Amino acid sequence: MSPQLNVVPFVSVDNMMKLVLSIGIERFLTELAGFIEEDFRRWSVFDKTPRVASHSADGVIELMPTSDGTTYGFKYVNGHPKNTRDGRQTVTAFGVLADVGNGYPMLLTEMTILTALRTAAMSAVAARYLAPVGARTMALIGNGAQAEFQALAFKALLGVDAVRLYDIDPSATAKCVRNLAGCGIDIRSCSSIAQAMEGAQIVTTVTADKQNATILTDNLVGPGLHINGVGGDCPGKTELHADILRRADIFVEYAPQTRIEGEIQQLPVDHPVTELWRVLRGEAEGRRDARQITLFDSVGFAVEDFSALRYVRAKLAGTGFYADLDLLADPDEPRDLFGMLLRAGA
Ligand code: NAD
Repeated sequence: MSPQLNVVPFVSVDNMMKLVLSIGIERFLTELAGFIEEDFRRWSVFDKTPRVASHSADGVIELMPTSDGTTYGFKYVNGHPKNTRDGRQTVTAFGVLADVGNGYPMLLTEMTILTALRTAAMSAVAARYLAPVGARTMALIGNGAQAEFQALAFKALLGVDAVRLYDIDPSATAKCVRNLAGCGIDIRSCSSIAQAMEGAQIVTTVTADKQNATILTDNLVGPGLHINGVGGDCPGKTELHADILRRADIFVEYAPQTRIEGEIQQLPVDHPVTELWRVLRGEAEGRRDARQITLFDSVGFAVEDFSALRYVRAKLAGTGFYADLDLLADPDEPRDLFGMLLRAGA
């Protein structure tokens, strides 16, 4: 990348797509999962705080910062479930990596596509420790922007080879069927959640609705199921009936944030949950037995975005899939900022 001090590599949506396709989607997911695991294993080095959320009637805008002491990262992300009606995405994002030593940004990148990839990679990392051994069939409820990424991450990292789709909007399911054709997964569209769940050892819920929805009811959840709950990620926005939570062993990214935003907002604040980094480090158990119900109560945490930013920066060198952005003032004499402005007008 450019050694110039005053330019910042910028990855546009177009360049992100080129980068992902040049690496290959499944390889990208697998390598990104490796970066997430690496960062979760060194959890204690990170500055951690629940994300800063600005809520409004139709959505939320959030800032997600963290630092490992050497590098700082943050993501700007929104969540507006009604957006798709106006042709907009429910979730859009961009992010920055910066050098802690001098505070200068080192990377500015789109993160809408990157968030879908990192969320899917994170889900698959969790499932590797929580899903029943040999799980090959997944129900995928909610077939919007995130859905195909989830299916491919579970294929690449767990060997899932059958995915059963359901969405209240059949056109979303049809889109998913089209996009996943020929990817090596047996794809079935289903006419109800119950039908999608038949024979599934894993269920991913990734719906968008700004309410306490009940995508899964207790009677649908049999022994041994792993639930990857992705869509409930805001106060007042959940997907699972509380009875399921009381039967499941619950794993979270960062408990102080998940207690506010996750499915567990429905439970008392002292209900026991396990932070996933402890499982990855071998300090806590993941799945113990074949009949246990496990829930990954995913909300998306800053460390995952940090891993994704770090991965993109590592893969960018020598690709040309970025532009040099004139983002930083660079007067010849650092204190002569005003003089630089005057000279520009001369
Ligand atoms: P999207 O709007 O593109 O798709 C959501 C889909 O859910 C739509 O197709 C919609 O028809 C469907 N849906 C809504 N209610 C449903 C119901 N009752 N039953 C079945 N399907 C239903 O949104 P997206 O970008 O795919 O995001 C999905 C959800 O995931 C959002 O809530 C988003 O906030 C969340 N998300 C979470 C993370 C995380 O890290 N946990 C990351 C990204 C997105």
